[in-house]
Amino acid sequence: MFDIKTKVLNILRGKCPKCGKGNIYIHKSVFPLSKMLTTVDDCPVCGHKIKSGEENAPGINYAVSVIVYAIAVIFYACVWGITYQDNSFIYAFLFSTAVVILLQPWLMRLSKTIYIYVLLKFK
Ligand SMILES: [Zn+2]
Repeated sequence: MFDIKTKVLNILRGKCPKCGKGNIYIHKSVFPLSKMLTTVDDCPVCGHKIKSGEENAPGINYAVSVIVYAIAVIFYACVWGITYQDNSFIYAFLFSTAVVILLQPWLMRLSKTIYIYVLLKFK
């Protein structure tokens, strides 16, 4: 049983949803970009099934996009809250857009991890 802090840390580090020790992704780094979302079939530590048929379902890209969008909105809201008083919204908007574009590989990986944790039903 995990507490919420451990769960969030495991999501950020891309660890197994069951044991929290095995890596979900084949490559620890997001590079090469073409394989950044490739997951292992089973957890190397506990054997929990990570890859499922639902992972390649047509809705996965849409689901990951929605999660990336939600993370970006949260990021925009944080920047807007910081810069609201000095009336520099355009700079905040351009800065946060650039940051979100630069962080896109990590955001996509984080989104897929959240998808695996929240939406996929494991046996
Ligand atoms: Zn595991």
